[in-house]
Order: sequence, then C-alpha cells, then structure tokens
Amino acid sequence: MELARRLVGTNPARIAVSGLSWGPPGGPRIIHDLDFSVEPGQMLAVVGPNGAGKSSLLRCLYRFHRPSSGSVALDGVDIRGMQSRALARRVATVLQESASDFGLSVAEIVELGLTPHLDQWSGPAYGPVEDALELMNLTAFASRDFASLSGGEKQRVMIARALVQKPDLLILDEPTNHLDIRHQLEVLHLLAGLPTTIIVSLHDLALASAHADCVLVLEGGRSVQFGPPLAALTPENIRRTFAVEALIDAHPATGRPRFSFHLDPSKS
Ligand code: ADP
Ligand code: MG
Repeated sequence: MELARRLVGTNPARIAVSGLSWGPPGGPRIIHDLDFSVEPGQMLAVVGPNGAGKSSLLRCLYRFHRPSSGSVALDGVDIRGMQSRALARRVATVLQESASDFGLSVAEIVELGLTPHLDQWSGPAYGPVEDALELMNLTAFASRDFASLSGGEKQRVMIARALVQKPDLLILDEPTNHLDIRHQLEVLHLLAGLPTTIIVSLHDLALASAHADCVLVLEGGRSVQFGPPLAALTPENIRRTFAVEALIDAHPATGRPRFSFHLDPSKS
C-alpha cells in the first residue's frame, strides 16, 4: 500500500453532481436529473444493467459530455469552467475503449500519464512509472509492445497509466471486465486502499458492496437509489433494476455480503 499511496494525489477531490441530465444533441435524454456527491477519499460504485447510462454518466463527470442541464463540481468549482490542463492534473480515467495500436511499449504508455505534469516535473520519469508497473504486477512487461498484450494485461497497463497521473479523482469504466478473478479482487482491493476519490462502474454487485463506500444504482438513466452499499443493493432494488431475484447473506469465510441470483420461475 505504501507504493500505492506514493502514486496518487495528496488532495482527494469532493465531487458534487446536481440536477445532471444529458442526451446527445437532437437525441433523446439518456441521463435524467441525477443528484449525488462523493466525499474526499471515498469510493462510489455505479451499477446498473447494460444500457442503464453508466458510461454516459461517467463521460459527463470527466467532461467528455456537456450536460444538457445541471452541474458537476470538483471541490465546489464547476468543471465546465476549468482549464483542460487543470482538469487533467486532477482527474484520471480508465476507459473501456483503450487505443491499442500505438506501437508503444508498456512503459511508454504508462509514462503518458505524466503528461499533464510535465512542466512541473523535476524528478526522473522512471520513478513513478516503475512504481506503477510494480504495483500492477507489470514489471516484467515494461518493454513489451502494448499491442501484444492480452485484454486483462492491457487493462492493468491503463490503470498504471492513470495512477502516474497522480489523480485526486479517478474514474474507471468497468475496469474489471477483462480481468480474471484474482486480478478483479486485487484491483478492487488496491483501489479501495488508495487515498484518492474514486468513481467506478462495476457489474459485480458483490465487488461493489465489499469495496465501495457508496453505491449508485442506475436504471434507464435514472437513480434507483444512492447510498451505503447494503442500503442501495437491496433485493427489492436488484429485482427492480436487473429483473432477477437476489439472495444476500454473509459469506461464511469473509463475513462480507454474498450475492446469489436466480430468475423468478413464475416469470420465465
Ligand atoms: P451503460 O454504460 O450503462 O451500458 P451507456 O451509457 O453506454 O450505458 O448507454 C446508455 C444508453 O444511451 C444506451 O441505450 C445507448 O445506446 C445510449 N447512448 C449512449 N451514448 C449515446 C449517443 N452518443 N447517442 C445516442 N445514444 C447514446
Ligand atoms: Mg458502459
């Protein structure tokens, strides 16, 4: 964890979302009137079925989409008014569609995370890059061609790149998608231990409930519930959102909530 703490920013952000709506220009509204905030150093998990609007919401949070109404504020400042570089120094992203054919090595891709800080950078670049590679179990891959990696290895490289950016807010869109079980657990454990603010979309409700401080359940671009994991991830909310029956009990080994799912036999 010492390594992880050395990497991220020292000034975790508070993010406040107020009355946020978004839709493509001339198209239907996709995100409807969302309100929530995340305190400095906390982790928010965004869950919801395919097409619920998770990626669209995250795109509003890192200013790829301009909201149709409402606002996103970092430490009380609307991100709409922030300089791009100021935003890039504070907010890092790990997205699903990672460009793959740069012809760059793994270490070079990770080094790109330093770009927003280059004019302030005094130390040797290899320090944080080596730290991030070690943290993500990628040291042996440093000189490999990024394009030659597996999906899961690429995903870990993109997380390492985001960490060297020293983010005060880290936004990740389904970062566990291509990862095997061991790496899913490791990545969530690592993220939960970072003293930075994190917003992460996840499919796995057990991972969300075990590691996040709060959960936003989305369906059809609307908030079903926002709150502490077990208050948000109730069997009722899961039925309403995912159309499955959920059994939630305590895992006998860890004591953490365990989720089991089945279809309602009367509806299938
Ligand atoms: P999720 O990430 O939860 O699977 P998305 O945010 O990707 O959901 O998409 C939510 C809905 O909005 C989907 O129906 C998707 O097709 C639609 N959508 C997303 N972006 C656009 C866009 N730029 N133009 C039109 N429709 C979009
Ligand atoms: Mg998505």
